[in-house]
Amino acid sequence: MDCGSDKVIYMDNNATTRVAPEVVDAMMPFLTDCYGNPSSMHIFGGQVGRAITEARESIAELLGAEPEEIIFTSCGTESDSTAILSGLQTFPEQRHIVTTRVEHPAVKNLCDNLDSLTGHKHRITRLQVEADGTLDLDQYRESLTEDTAIVSVMWANNETGVIFPVEEMAAMARERDILFHTDAVQAVGKIPFNLKETAIDFLSVSGHKLHAPKGVGVLYVRKGTPFIPFINGGHQEHGRRGGTENVASIVALGRACKLAGEKLEEENTRVKYLRDKLETGLLEQIPRSMLNGHKTERLPNTANISFEFVEGESILLHMDRYRICASSGSACTSGSLEPSHVLRAMGVPFTAAHGSIRFSLSVYNTEKEVDFVLEKMPAIIANLREMSPFWNKDDH
Ligand SMILES: *Cc1c(COP(=O)(O)O)cnc(C)c1O
Repeated sequence: MDCGSDKVIYMDNNATTRVAPEVVDAMMPFLTDCYGNPSSMHIFGGQVGRAITEARESIAELLGAEPEEIIFTSCGTESDSTAILSGLQTFPEQRHIVTTRVEHPAVKNLCDNLDSLTGHKHRITRLQVEADGTLDLDQYRESLTEDTAIVSVMWANNETGVIFPVEEMAAMARERDILFHTDAVQAVGKIPFNLKETAIDFLSVSGHKLHAPKGVGVLYVRKGTPFIPFINGGHQEHGRRGGTENVASIVALGRACKLAGEKLEEENTRVKYLRDKLETGLLEQIPRSMLNGHKTERLPNTANISFEFVEGESILLHMDRYRICASSGSACTSGSLEPSHVLRAMGVPFTAAHGSIRFSLSVYNTEKEVDFVLEKMPAIIANLREMSPFWNKDDH
């Protein structure tokens, strides 16, 4: 099947990324020739086991972790659930969780459904964010109590790219013997960090957000942090996550982490330059447009921009005609267009939240693509506004 990926301008990398060609090459032998079970006693399987060991080392190196602190999972969502449920089971008497109002559904919906999932009543503090999407650390400090079992705060927001000071927050939790989990799915490979220098207990990674395939993830569990498995079964992952290893994807993730380490610099220079050019150009050229999220405390690849008085979904349809791929900040839920919970938490006005578009770039984007988008967007927005009953051009 040909999806025409060579013809699209792909600026939706926070939704998923292209599998890097080097990563495809690295995983291929494990889909064909090297099909042994890494748990088998024969050499044929043992080779495969060694490939997993190498992948684990590459991932540990990117995160600043030890290989034995890396547990392979099926996705970022599984890693999030595993960490939070483990924390709650470790301290069954403590029924309080601290999280934020802007988490990914993987954490948000788990927290929303905890009582029915665990059979216990939990108290959940969902930290409010400022208009620019940042957190107030005083509010966080006050939320931590004797009863708090675990904190779960994302490192970087998938919709706005806003970065939270999780290292500082983890240190504050540690002082009170509270476990700290961070969903770092969007942060890994985009901002540098070293887990050895932090007090983070659990950290979630997803393969398909950093140029590895979908369906593989990692949960980092700090050495010494109590851990209760989510999936029980065989002795894989030292009994911490049962199930025969997804070898090809694990090898792929190892290669992708190596690449991410090598390209971190490019991500923060060239990709950031492209993002800044796109963002500044759009804001300058298009009236009544605004940035959602802090100007600098933000991932280098993400720009979430609102175009007032137009529908995000309509903008995307028109962008699609030029094969430009991005995301809108409204999710089509049960037929009604609800602005995202993230933009609502930031208090983005209704008319702006509805017309928000998230551009998320990667190392595969070019300046030519950015120029093309800058050339097409002003007319797309102007044409849609012509048709909008809320837009009166004499007012603007
Ligand atoms: C994509 C994403 C996830 C979910 O990862 P999957 O591997 O798709 O389950 C979790 N958190 C954030 C911030 C994400 O962007």
